[in-house]
Amino acid sequence: MAIKITDDCINCGACEPECPNTAIYEAAFDWKFSEGTSLKGDIKLPSGQNVNADTEQEAVSDEYYFIVTDKCTECKGFHDEPQCAAVCPVDCCVPDEDNVESEEFLLTKQSFMHGDNDKQSSNETSSWFSVKS
Ligand code: SF4
Ligand code: SF4
Repeated sequence: MAIKITDDCINCGACEPECPNTAIYEAAFDWKFSEGTSLKGDIKLPSGQNVNADTEQEAVSDEYYFIVTDKCTECKGFHDEPQCAAVCPVDCCVPDEDNVESEEFLLTKQSFMHGDNDKQSSNETSSWFSVKS
């Protein structure tokens, strides 16, 4: 499952540079799928929603650092454990029970975000699931 940040966060910023997917943002900061990934242009999310990877998305929290669920892979494909949880001084990076994903899916997501996807170079809408096909 993805990781989430609880309201115990003290906004120290230690987690942000540790994320291999650039899934962690400071409170109130807008974010993009393209930041820290090879995503560009139109993409289809697991939910079926189409978005543009280069378009700014609204901050998830105005008070605390937050994790973009669709960019979090629990660090699968990069590290053995979630790096945000490993460095957080108050242990507020915890499993997100509302976003449970299999290891296979997390690895597919990681591949999709970091270029192992031949549709990235075409004009087609890229989907997480196209990696598997
Ligand atoms: S678990 Fe890993 S990928 Fe997910 S937000 Fe934390 S550092 Fe980023
Ligand atoms: S390391 Fe923990 S306390 Fe610090 S900003 Fe990240 S989630 Fe918040």
